[in-house]
Amino acid sequence: MTNDLRTLLTGIPADLRAANARDLRFREWKQWLIGHAAAPLSRLYGPSDPASFGILMYHRVCWPVPGLPTPTWNVTPNKFAAQLRGLLDRGFQAWPLELILAFRARNRPLPPRVFAVTFDDGYENNLTEALPILDEYSVPATVFLATNYLGTDRPFPFDDWSAAGSHAAPSSTWRPLSLDQCRALRDSELVSLGAHTHTHADFRNHPFEFALDLEHCVETLATRFGVTDPVLALPYGCKATGTAGPMFSQIARQSGCIGCLSTEAGVVPLASDPFDWGRFYVGSGDTSETIAAKLDGWWDRVRGALRMARQSWIGSRSGMVAREGIRDIGNPAPSHSVTTTPDHEELAVAGASAESL
Ligand SMILES: [Zn+2]
Repeated sequence: MTNDLRTLLTGIPADLRAANARDLRFREWKQWLIGHAAAPLSRLYGPSDPASFGILMYHRVCWPVPGLPTPTWNVTPNKFAAQLRGLLDRGFQAWPLELILAFRARNRPLPPRVFAVTFDDGYENNLTEALPILDEYSVPATVFLATNYLGTDRPFPFDDWSAAGSHAAPSSTWRPLSLDQCRALRDSELVSLGAHTHTHADFRNHPFEFALDLEHCVETLATRFGVTDPVLALPYGCKATGTAGPMFSQIARQSGCIGCLSTEAGVVPLASDPFDWGRFYVGSGDTSETIAAKLDGWWDRVRGALRMARQSWIGSRSGMVAREGIRDIGNPAPSHSVTTTPDHEELAVAGASAESL
């Protein structure tokens, strides 16, 4: 390992980490608010764009451990099952990513309400907890592996659950998959294995290191599991923080990947570039109703409307402050403090970044 790469392996980069519990609560609250505002629209109107589909992004699937902090990036097995069951009951169809890519390559339209399930990182619980549920509902999925950590008995260096690796937490709640477990997933015929880079490092401004690392990941997938044309899911994968974008997409193409997924939330028009497809984060606060609202495109629309309303509010506040400033020139009234923009926008950015592991 080069020194350059070693310096990139510092856990979660500080600016991509949710700064504190307040950030996390705000993120969950924001998700909850948008989801519940959008759900009635999905119920009333169905898909807003039938030519699009959606990709769901999960990480850990495990039970909480009494006495320990709630696992991060987790959906409990019963909630995961309820989410899938609810989506299928609403007429959604779960497809493998490869099949969606094949339809795109042949310019064939998708039926309405197609979605794909993905998991990032490669937690052991993807096999022990998630696979039986996928099997029960015949839902295909792709597990994106950070191949450097397969078979180790240490938590992922980017796992931000404080109990990960402790004796009090069952190892399946945090341990990376072993090589044999990856093969068991592959042999299930429901799960495809994909690339999540080798080391899951912060590759911003390091295209050379990213290319080498991805090459190592792709080679590991080929030699260990016989996967020759993987899809890549970018670690962090957020355009605003520079962890997704054209540089990553171009290198993914050159590395033999057949797609490159970010964590930009939004429905995906089938005709769009598969090296720029985004995914919806699914959290513990999501129900099948709020996920349906995401997949139907209404979540995007509500979020867009809220952002516009906020920008408009900020604009009107700025105008008011400017007018007051002009009026106050030559009339130095008693000083009054103008409240600056609350830090919600920054928190929103932090939240978006933190949704990107
Ligand atoms: Zn990840």
